[in-house]
Amino acid sequence: MGVNIQWFPGHMAKAIRQFEENVSLVDIVFEILDARIPLSSMNPEVKRISGDKPHLYIMTKRDLADEKQTREWLEYFDSIGQPAMAVDAKTKFGTNSVLSKINPILKDKLAREEAKGMKSRPIRAVSVGVPNVGKSTVLNRLVNRRAAQVGNRPGVTKGQQWLKSSEKLELLDTPGILWPKFQSQEIANKLALTGAIKESVYSSDDIALYALSQFRTSLHQGLAERYRLSESDFELSDVDLLLKITKQVGMQDDYMRASDRLIQDARSGKLGGFTLDSVADLEESDNADY
Ligand code: GDP
Repeated sequence: MGVNIQWFPGHMAKAIRQFEENVSLVDIVFEILDARIPLSSMNPEVKRISGDKPHLYIMTKRDLADEKQTREWLEYFDSIGQPAMAVDAKTKFGTNSVLSKINPILKDKLAREEAKGMKSRPIRAVSVGVPNVGKSTVLNRLVNRRAAQVGNRPGVTKGQQWLKSSEKLELLDTPGILWPKFQSQEIANKLALTGAIKESVYSSDDIALYALSQFRTSLHQGLAERYRLSESDFELSDVDLLLKITKQVGMQDDYMRASDRLIQDARSGKLGGFTLDSVADLEESDNADY
């Protein structure tokens, strides 16, 4: 039942070690979060490893999220003094928007360096995030790869490069990939539905049923339109609703295939924007770490 995930301790230790090394080279860490699950896509280790280095949340997939909840998350982060921005990383996103967020955070540090007679230099950053959250997309938007290689610098692990985003910003070319947290089945369901974990480790029908339990209210209209459902269909149990959708998409009784279709439709925004982690949930829980 549900999502069964094994992260190999050796891989985790290596990923952490590499990220720790990278953090020591930068001024700021960009933690990439999925705007649909800002909390569930956070890695609990990132803040600890980043130590006193500033930390910017870049919430991707804003175009696929519920806009009202995205604004609530931004307000929440602002209220606790945590720099954050939400973007559609595929289109409306670039270096200037990042610089306008990080300049105020780092200007004192850079000014202090200049006062000591050090040469003016670009801000250096590294990204980190769970699989599939949009790390490469963010990097590619910030960097023109062909023109971007700044060359090897001391301290950078062999094979890694600084990429130039502008005269004022350089990024390490290898984002850290850390595992998501699996404290509960609910978090695992959210990660599966949004695509942060591989299809081979969960059963599509479990995730489709989870999606229906979430969306029958929040994406009622999207579901009704996409699968030509009537109001009375929404009185069915999740299982019967899934069977009904299976018929509606012409898959007879192949509910596994219909589940895959439903998951794909949700991920690509065809049912409407959704957010599965709410600020209210956070405030209710004792999750004081965030
Ligand atoms: P990575 O594994 O973290 O490097 O993730 P990728 O950058 O490869 O992105 C994973 C998928 O999410 C790709 O299909 C991207 O096109 C898509 N993606 C990334 N950012 C966004 C976004 O802001 N909006 C939408 N709609 N898709 C995005």
